[in-house]
Amino acid sequence: MKLKIKNPATGQLVQEVPINTEEEIQQKLKRGHESFNNWFKVNAHYRSKLLKKWSNKVQGAKEEIAKTITLESGKPIQESLNEVDYATSYIDWYAEEAKRIYGRTIPANSESKRVIVTRQPVGLVAAITPWNFPAAMMTRKAAPALAAGCTFIIKPAENTPLTTIKLVQLAHEAGIPEDVVQYVNGYGNEVGKLFTASTYVKKITFTGSTTVGKLLMKDSADTVKHISLELGGHAPLIISEDADIDFAVSQTIASKFRNAGQTCICVNRVLVHENIVDEFSEKLTKEVVKLKVGNGLEKDINIGPIINEKGFDKIIYQINDAMQKGAEVLCGNNYNANRDAGCFFIHPTVLKNVNENMAIMQEETFGPVIPLTTFKEIEEAVEIANSTPYGLAAYFFTNDYRTGAYFHENLDFGIVSWNDGAPSAAHTPFGGMKESGLGREGGIEGIESYLETKYLSIGGL
Ligand code: ADP
Repeated sequence: MKLKIKNPATGQLVQEVPINTEEEIQQKLKRGHESFNNWFKVNAHYRSKLLKKWSNKVQGAKEEIAKTITLESGKPIQESLNEVDYATSYIDWYAEEAKRIYGRTIPANSESKRVIVTRQPVGLVAAITPWNFPAAMMTRKAAPALAAGCTFIIKPAENTPLTTIKLVQLAHEAGIPEDVVQYVNGYGNEVGKLFTASTYVKKITFTGSTTVGKLLMKDSADTVKHISLELGGHAPLIISEDADIDFAVSQTIASKFRNAGQTCICVNRVLVHENIVDEFSEKLTKEVVKLKVGNGLEKDINIGPIINEKGFDKIIYQINDAMQKGAEVLCGNNYNANRDAGCFFIHPTVLKNVNENMAIMQEETFGPVIPLTTFKEIEEAVEIANSTPYGLAAYFFTNDYRTGAYFHENLDFGIVSWNDGAPSAAHTPFGGMKESGLGREGGIEGIESYLETKYLSIGGL
């Protein structure tokens, strides 16, 4: 059995990849578990050196990896090149953090005792990643795991395994032992069950839908695994009356249209103060119509294909639902769909007069559509923004520090971005509140969940 990897821009077969049998996966899990005993004893400075070598190899293959990302995910080639840098930045960051896994001493409550706290890696980590950042989602999990001294096994998304395979090969070429970092290929529900049931796996780290995240959490309960989840989002972007409108327009576009709107922190709802909505929507539309849609390998393309039919149908449903309920189309709402080939393109769309009763204001869109709604008071904006089970990223634009402080304190989101449409970086803690996830990736927080705390009590001194 093989996975057929197709270019979502053309429908052409890129490559076939063998699906691992259950037996092969169990063997790999065993090897990952057994190699942990050697890997966690390797000194942190050496692990750091190997990670740096891996980072150099990834940068050395930057063009090739970027092309693979575009071929399997459809994103424009410039975005893929950026993704390789972004992916490398996690390896670089955790190559350094490997050397900073500190313990502490605690003053004892007796002269005859000493108290020491150390940190140890949790063991074999199993990762499941989505299609939309095939390189960065891999390194954001693998780099802190390896830096901490964990061993690592990954199942990439069925439609984008090629980037992961390449990254794992490069890790081996850099000198990271083969059993320390491994991949398997297969279907999510099947491999997911093997990962969660395995007593060798000590931690699950997942990026993907909230539905699957909840399932993995439930299935991890039997063996009480550590778990990190980076799930869906429904990001609001609020533009207050005093905001710099031109800047807000450029940042809205930067946030909304990355990967054709298919990222979990893409703006999903734009809330504009009613006094500036006309100016903002006019300026926004003027810029949005300039974006070019097409095959991401071609020059100057800004927006690639939608990943699959399911994603496409959901976006079209949300646009139609909004229009039926009174939304006005300012631009876009035209698309090319070739269902036989599996190619779906949607032109960037701006909708005005959107309200809370429309599906687009309630669910993640994962597509190039901007719904605009208005507010009068900042309290109302926060109430609308928070009225969702999701809590990943929220954006706001204001030059008034009181308004900014209010938004910062009252928005229930793990990432709050003030006058900034691109908050994600390796040195910062990325992750969601509420049903958007558990734990953080990136920053000093990102290695925490790969570590156990061990407390040593010495007596009789
Ligand atoms: P998306 O909407 O991005 O495809 P998914 O959550 O369906 O989000 O997929 C993200 C990753 O989760 C993919 O690698 C996919 O194979 C995997 N996956 C899908 N279903 C399951 C499942 N039941 N258990 C474990 N992993 C799954």
